[in-house]
Amino acid sequence: MALTDRNKGRGEFHGYLQEKSHLHFIPRQWKEAPMLRLTPTMLNAARLAKRQRQQIDALKIRSAHELKSMTDDFRWRVEVVMRHLETKGWVPVVFHGRRTTVQQAEKVKQGYSHTMASFHLASTAIPHSAIAFNYVVKGEAADIVDARYLWSGSASHLNFSFWKDLGGYAKSVGLAWGGNWKKPDVAHVQLTHIETSQDPRVVV
Ligand SMILES: [Zn+2]
Repeated sequence: MALTDRNKGRGEFHGYLQEKSHLHFIPRQWKEAPMLRLTPTMLNAARLAKRQRQQIDALKIRSAHELKSMTDDFRWRVEVVMRHLETKGWVPVVFHGRRTTVQQAEKVKQGYSHTMASFHLASTAIPHSAIAFNYVVKGEAADIVDARYLWSGSASHLNFSFWKDLGGYAKSVGLAWGGNWKKPDVAHVQLTHIETSQDPRVVV
């Protein structure tokens, strides 16, 4: 009885190659095939590595796009920070640069941000009053993550070494780091400046 008949309807053909009586029908490369077979673990690892490569490529494109949204002064500082992180073996990408009001409102709704007065928004200007004049604080912000982790896995811990490295390099180029805040925002770096009001008034 042919093996194919015996297995009919059982959906099992994996025993076929092991049957000695059939070996003469099998091309040489098929006989060697079991030696080359990938285990499920190896296949999963290969799939995971491929997915990770695709994720890194996609995030690098996103990062380049976000970098374009920045002013030259802020961009060069962010790029210096990223080069330093790369030399330490990290894969840094800018996940968020400038946001629209709608995008920021969505972040607040999702609980990722707690303020609409964020420097991710070009329109943010925080008013202050001093003795003889009024001024506003304006700024720019970026969220920098490692493309392999983003905010998950090891990166979900505030003391993950990528965040510490990011904070250190940010400080060295004069950027404020969100990891030092009361509500830590470890991916966040920003650069602020003061603009005096167009209409200076004496505040009594
Ligand atoms: Zn941010």
